[in-house]
Amino acid sequence: MRKKIVAGNWKMNLSYAEAMSLADALVNAVEENASPDIILASPFIYLHELISRIQGNPNFYMAAQNCSEHQKGAFTGEVSAPMLASIGIEHVLIGHSERRTLYGESDVVLRSKVDRAIESGLIPIFCCGEMLAERNAGSHFQRVADQLNNGLFGISEKQMKECIIAYEPVWAIGTGVTASSEQAQEMHAFIRSEIAKKYSAELADTISILYGGSVNAQNAAELFTCKDVDGGLVGGASLKSAEFISIIRAMESVSTN
Ligand code: PEP
Repeated sequence: MRKKIVAGNWKMNLSYAEAMSLADALVNAVEENASPDIILASPFIYLHELISRIQGNPNFYMAAQNCSEHQKGAFTGEVSAPMLASIGIEHVLIGHSERRTLYGESDVVLRSKVDRAIESGLIPIFCCGEMLAERNAGSHFQRVADQLNNGLFGISEKQMKECIIAYEPVWAIGTGVTASSEQAQEMHAFIRSEIAKKYSAELADTISILYGGSVNAQNAAELFTCKDVDGGLVGGASLKSAEFISIIRAMESVSTN
């Protein structure tokens, strides 16, 4: 049985007070036993405090939105994977499209980040996804295969077992345009076939693959019903407690049916 996951990516939003009250509202609203894993990717400076806020509910985990490709040293302004692990963080987003496009993070840099994360015992949530022009040109499968091959694959099968993949078509992120359930299913199945080719059918069948890109309370259930979609990476809709709770409920109802 693959792990079902609903992850929220807060990006560079929320004041300290807003972040704490959102986390408190989510922890209080979610049943301890009947829920998917919920991962909150918060700005660095709130992570330490949020760990203690979520401690009472075993469904919750924290993620950083990024980490350095270096382990330590003279890298002013950076935060390393060992630092994150040292405060009890379990997950880190790697390769979000905003990091790729706005900060020029190449596959080579992302591959180093994956290595640093794994060395520190963090679970990488590796993001991949094509641009609109690539989809229109029919090269979307090749683009995602290249991102996986160059940025993620190469780690051992044992290490891969600990990873989570998020398919996030760039044209769907923050646009209000979501992939159709057919488009999401087709790409998730393709990602599994690439994992089977590179590693094994068993690993392909057990790794959790999340869909991200304008997931909201209205479209979550349909996306989560897709056979190869194990949950969502949610941006804008994770900032509103009621909406994010509805998305968590959508996953709960799909999992129990
Ligand atoms: C994201 O940033 O990972 C994301 C999916 O954003 P949104 O849900 O707002 O499209």
